[in-house]
Amino acid sequence: MKIINIFILLFVSSLSLESIAADCEQVIEGNDALQFNSKAMTVSAACETITVTLKHTGQLPANIMGHNWVLTKSSDFMPVAQAGGAAGLENDYVPQNDPRVIAYSKIIGGGETTTVTFSTADLSKGENYTFFCSFPGHYAIMQGSLSLTD
Ligand code: ZN
Repeated sequence: MKIINIFILLFVSSLSLESIAADCEQVIEGNDALQFNSKAMTVSAACETITVTLKHTGQLPANIMGHNWVLTKSSDFMPVAQAGGAAGLENDYVPQNDPRVIAYSKIIGGGETTTVTFSTADLSKGENYTFFCSFPGHYAIMQGSLSLTD
């Protein structure tokens, strides 16, 4: 019985090591000073899904200094960010049912954490992607690039 447990443990740890090595899981922080702590994410094209964890390290509430993590093609970034402002907090400042939105997390306030997982099936290696916070006014500063590598 103990030997079986050890095998299961080894199996589970080798799985999580693989995902870490392939950068399929990304962690990013936002703060009360309108900043993400990362300007670029690189994800292996071998990842079937990407999981992004957003941590709000500030203290201000979501309606004052809310942050989310939204991903679009770089060419869609500006129009989607502008449409997001009109969508309102109840829609996480994201235009609903908009095919240009590849992935998005909910808006969170200080001290909160949220996670979004999405498939890489519709992403391509040569394309430039932009991630940003769609809270009104934040996208000008809170943005970065995401790209796929081998
Ligand atoms: Zn924000």
